[in-house]
Amino acid sequence: MNHKTMRQMWSETPGQLQLRHNPLFEPGDNDVLIKVAYTGICPWDVRAFTGKSSVAFPRVLGHETAGYVAAIGDQVKQLEIGQAVVADFIVKCGVCRACRRGRSNRCQYPTFQQYGGGYGDYIRIPQQNIYPLRPHTSLKAAAFMEPLACVWRGINMLDIQPGDVALVAGVGPIGLMHMQVARLFGARVIASDLVPARLEKARELGADWAIDPSQEDLPALVEEVSDGWGVDAAVVAVGSSRLVEQTLALLAPGGRLNIFAGIYPRDELQIDPNLIHYGEFVLTGSADSTPQDMRRALDLIESGQVDTESLISHLLPLEELGRGFELVQQTAGLKVMIEVNGD
Ligand SMILES: [Zn+2]
Ligand SMILES: [Zn+2]
Repeated sequence: MNHKTMRQMWSETPGQLQLRHNPLFEPGDNDVLIKVAYTGICPWDVRAFTGKSSVAFPRVLGHETAGYVAAIGDQVKQLEIGQAVVADFIVKCGVCRACRRGRSNRCQYPTFQQYGGGYGDYIRIPQQNIYPLRPHTSLKAAAFMEPLACVWRGINMLDIQPGDVALVAGVGPIGLMHMQVARLFGARVIASDLVPARLEKARELGADWAIDPSQEDLPALVEEVSDGWGVDAAVVAVGSSRLVEQTLALLAPGGRLNIFAGIYPRDELQIDPNLIHYGEFVLTGSADSTPQDMRRALDLIESGQVDTESLISHLLPLEELGRGFELVQQTAGLKVMIEVNGD
């Protein structure tokens, strides 16, 4: 195995990509070597690539990966060569306070760098971070496990009850998943976005209302569909403090709002605390996911209860990763996915 090489698209410095041919990973006793089929591009990857996050360079990005088991370590008993799997790239320490408090998404000592990134032919991941797929699951659909796990976690913060009116502000790939999961909890969902194609997709995936707030009166719609009560649950899936403020103003008494997207550059909220006090609002955030969230997300994909595959607007070869990053930056389309080796 040592003589074989693999392609990896390295981010050398911010904004700079280089395709390198490196020796294939040797899996350790507890590791699984995965031949990468598909890896999605996450807005986080683009932020990291453009130097807007604190990640170190050089590195191979990509963390939304589905592929096939290519080799296993001696201690790996429950997986077989050729099996289709999805990988969770963040290995939690398992012993810190966050891990033991059921918040391993906030693990204080996670590791991820040494496993390779999804924008390469192979990754090497410890077995506890591997999720095997059922025989007929689409690998493209399953590559959404990680972002859907984050969505699942976020929706669970909102305590949605059947009959609630939920608002999803921003229906890119993430918002479109929020919308679908909120509907599974029985909410009627308003999707709002400025991009007509995204609103169209929201309607296709079951939005009860889809509206461009720059063209139509969103507060009036909320008033109408909730009999003047307001929005019971809201997700702000775009990094904008103004949008958080505007959405907060639409909440019903007891309304919940999740600030799902990170907001960069830093921008303070201007909120009248009396709104929260008298409205009994709950403001929350959510970030990343736990293995429990991952497992739930995969169940939703494999049961067909959440449609992820149709969120893919572009499927590009590994060589065109740079163009993929640009497309995501321009919000041109929905999910951009890299077909590293395909099925
Ligand atoms: Zn992601
Ligand atoms: Zn930990």
